[in-house]
Amino acid sequence: MDGSRNANDKEMCKAERVPVLGVGIDNVDLAEALGKIEEYVKNREPGLVVTANPEIVMLARKAPDFKACLDDALLVTADGVGIVIAARLLGRPLKQRVTGIDLTTALFQQAAAKKYRLYFVGAKPGIAEKAAENISRSYPGIQIVGIQHGYFTDDHEIIEDIIIKKPDILLAALGMGKQEKWIAERVEPAGVPVSIGVGGSFDVFAGEAKRAPKWVQDAGVEWLYRLLRQPSRFWRMLQLPRFLAAVLLSRFFPGK
Ligand code: UDP
Repeated sequence: MDGSRNANDKEMCKAERVPVLGVGIDNVDLAEALGKIEEYVKNREPGLVVTANPEIVMLARKAPDFKACLDDALLVTADGVGIVIAARLLGRPLKQRVTGIDLTTALFQQAAAKKYRLYFVGAKPGIAEKAAENISRSYPGIQIVGIQHGYFTDDHEIIEDIIIKKPDILLAALGMGKQEKWIAERVEPAGVPVSIGVGGSFDVFAGEAKRAPKWVQDAGVEWLYRLLRQPSRFWRMLQLPRFLAAVLLSRFFPGK
């Protein structure tokens, strides 16, 4: 395919994003998100996929370099019911919530079928290995070509290994903000077609952190479940009411 046409298509997709406090969110369901990732793997033009929640949007308001990563991303999905509510309040309802865990879980199935090469970076030593073992058991044939923990001080050897292993998709679990900046600065120049920031997902796939029961997820209150299990997240979660207040302000006073 002609490279300039790819670039134009990508710019058009970005222009159609639903702006939530200045962060563009793609109006895609899970199947469409997977379709786009497949297309980006084929095109092999490096880029970032973000599953955005209200905390990410609030961080982008404070940190211009982080916002620039989001603006340049290949795909930004609505992770978190807060984003879905915000889009509805702003009169631009989104089709579906596409969470990081749902996206990666569906992606593993696609990766096994299409023989994608995956690379994992992040979480405490041993966790990504454990996650990879569980994922390999659940998705036979999946190719996880490299695994690194996320507590490195010098990443040169990691980047060299990534260049040698040539993954199609890299999952980075370093926490929001840090993982997106690392991808933009270090992984994209290494030529990886698709990199996704997956936050605490390796801990979940390793069985170290449990997701809320399905009914809690469906009710849109998984954040409350996480708060009750990890009270240390309280200060972070104060961002949610601040986010909704900012959305309402932008709805009624668009210039603010
Ligand atoms: N982490 C990491 N390196 C760091 C800091 C954090 O690998 O320098 C990992 C941490 O072990 C955890 C994940 O990043 O697995 C962050 O999880 P959290 O649920 O806090 O993600 P967030 O909500 O920030 O996306």
